[in-house]
Amino acid sequence: MRAAVLSRHDLDGLTVAETAVPTPGTGEVLVRVDTVGVNQLDLNVIAGTGPGAQAQLPRILGIDPAGEIVAVGAGVDPERVGQAVVVKPNIACGVCAHCQAGDEADCPRQTVVGVHRDGGAAEFVVTPARNAMDRRGLDAAQATAVVHSASIVINAVRTVALTAGERVLITGAGGTLGRAAVAIALARGADVVAASRRALTALGEEQIIQAPDAAALGSAVSGGEGFDVVLDVSGHAPTLRAGISALRWGGRAVFCAASVDSDLRIDARDFYLRRKRLAGVASARYDDVAEALALAAAGALPSLVGSRYAFDDVATAYRDFPRKGEGKVIVDVR
Ligand SMILES: [Zn+2]
Repeated sequence: MRAAVLSRHDLDGLTVAETAVPTPGTGEVLVRVDTVGVNQLDLNVIAGTGPGAQAQLPRILGIDPAGEIVAVGAGVDPERVGQAVVVKPNIACGVCAHCQAGDEADCPRQTVVGVHRDGGAAEFVVTPARNAMDRRGLDAAQATAVVHSASIVINAVRTVALTAGERVLITGAGGTLGRAAVAIALARGADVVAASRRALTALGEEQIIQAPDAAALGSAVSGGEGFDVVLDVSGHAPTLRAGISALRWGGRAVFCAASVDSDLRIDARDFYLRRKRLAGVASARYDDVAEALALAAAGALPSLVGSRYAFDDVATAYRDFPRKGEGKVIVDVR
């Protein structure tokens, strides 16, 4: 089969090479891949930095492939052959206290497809059967676009226990993840304020704040009644700081991106005296993924699919990724 193999830590070390089709072991399935996404995590693997430093080379990239099950290993229902699936990237250990409680997002021993084992930027990929999740009628590109991004937002909303009627500020609302976040918060019945550097068109009943930088955002959201929840997907620490400042008593902040900068400064006294809380979210539970796919299948999410690349151009897709604007970058493997 053809696969995007990284053999050293830079983009020139990535080649589309001929490799053996893997065999599913006990509890695993073989998926014939139609699409795979391009993610920041891939760039970390290519650079050998951050969470990508754990990848042993050579490694086949690709964390979120979608396709069809074509073979199953021992212990897996053979009826699943032919099922249209998308792969949840994070594999929970299944035995720790978090996993036993169903909270696989916080499993400290979770591993990731395309990082700790070969991924789906290839004609075939083997994954645990549980991670190959039913696409619920979504086409492969849509499922790839939803499985990681929207599921993390669902987990973020769960983490802060957002309830209907609560006032939520979503920062970074103009990006792919941000649009999903607005749609998900609206679907939960929240009173949504969407903030972005650029002009936005409304997805529903949300209020929109266009603020060119964190200072302008801070001015726009200070005073007033404050927010029960701030959900940041911008990955921009000054923006998150402005959101935290605008929380009301007992407010909860959650962020699910940290790609822009990591140096978050908060007013510790305000944080402490006003009983604020802050959480980081970087993966999802299995039921979060099922919910994200169901919401997309029901038409409750905006289209998250952005630009598309042929498999022969996979290296270009990774190279272009930092400059891509709207939507999830998709590689059409088949
Ligand atoms: Zn676990």
